[in-house]
Amino acid sequence: MLVVMGQPATREQIEHVIAEIERHGAQAHSIPGDSRVAIGVTNHHGRISRDQLQALPGVSTIVPITRPFKLASRETRQARTVIQIGDVRIGGDEVVVIAGPCAIESADQAMTIAHAVRQAGARIYRGGAYKPRTSPYSFQGLGRPGLEILARVRRETGLVTISEAVDNESLDLVAEYCDIVQIGARNMQNFSLLTHAGRTRKPVMLKRGMSATIEEWLLAAEYIMMEGNHQVILCERGVRTFAQHTRNTLDLSAVPTVRWISHLPVVVDPSHGTGRREKVTPLARAGVAVGADGIMVEVHHKPEEALSDGEQALTPEMFDQLMWELGIIVQALGRKIEGPAVGYQLRRGLGVTGVFSS
Ligand code: PEP
Ligand code: MN
Repeated sequence: MLVVMGQPATREQIEHVIAEIERHGAQAHSIPGDSRVAIGVTNHHGRISRDQLQALPGVSTIVPITRPFKLASRETRQARTVIQIGDVRIGGDEVVVIAGPCAIESADQAMTIAHAVRQAGARIYRGGAYKPRTSPYSFQGLGRPGLEILARVRRETGLVTISEAVDNESLDLVAEYCDIVQIGARNMQNFSLLTHAGRTRKPVMLKRGMSATIEEWLLAAEYIMMEGNHQVILCERGVRTFAQHTRNTLDLSAVPTVRWISHLPVVVDPSHGTGRREKVTPLARAGVAVGADGIMVEVHHKPEEALSDGEQALTPEMFDQLMWELGIIVQALGRKIEGPAVGYQLRRGLGVTGVFSS
């Protein structure tokens, strides 16, 4: 249920409603940033009724939340969630591009790629320090030294940083060194990790599990939000199907679906979605076209030497071309894409036919 307070409701009335909800053993959640003052009620199991809440002073209406996910639902919050990190806003007008290597391999590798993607217009730098690999014999990431390199990337380029956490210990470290904590597809239903992520004050990017339904994905987001962390970004990265021409099947229809039923921002990852570099650019373009709030792509200056996911890494030149193409699509949608090189790239593209790479 959602308790919508009348306007204006006094602070005392709001606090009284919260106290009453908690006195009945239910949980009260202030819904941030909406134009109305609203309090989400979860875990009530009938202990406090709609009528009891409606009778409290200052209450305007009670809205039943019909979806199984409550805090992530558009019924709870109509306005889209915008997550602000420095001057980067995820979920607003701007389409935000996240780029970087699959894994942080060395300071040189990370800095070279960071300068290249920043120059092309990326706003957020990605790079794994803890890599959940299918084989235990594959490169597992540099761990904490990798996070130290990410901190240097942030210091020297001003890029916002994101990295994956695989357990509670790495989550605390990622939250200390980076701006955004990533929860990978393999951990989408690691409920203790989700709860731990809910207790950090850093934004969390939650990737869709490789066989998760949209409802399961949003319920996973709910675990994070229940702990008071409402800064959740969803990331569609493809699901496992019988298809063999791609690594996963990128479910682009998930984007408008999620945007319809949830207020959370959604990002598309065509790198893990396709697994092949020649398919990344077309699917990135499609991701923006279907309404994603951002794109996450893997970039490596020497893909043939990459310690993980080299076959799906764009070269810096391919990334530059992609940014230019996204700039054109974003303009058609009436959205924005920021970045130092984009104005130049758009000018370069204007009036040119056949501008899209194959
Ligand atoms: C990643 O983004 O580095 C990653 C491992 O992706 P996923 O969890 O989607 O497989
Ligand atoms: Mn990868």
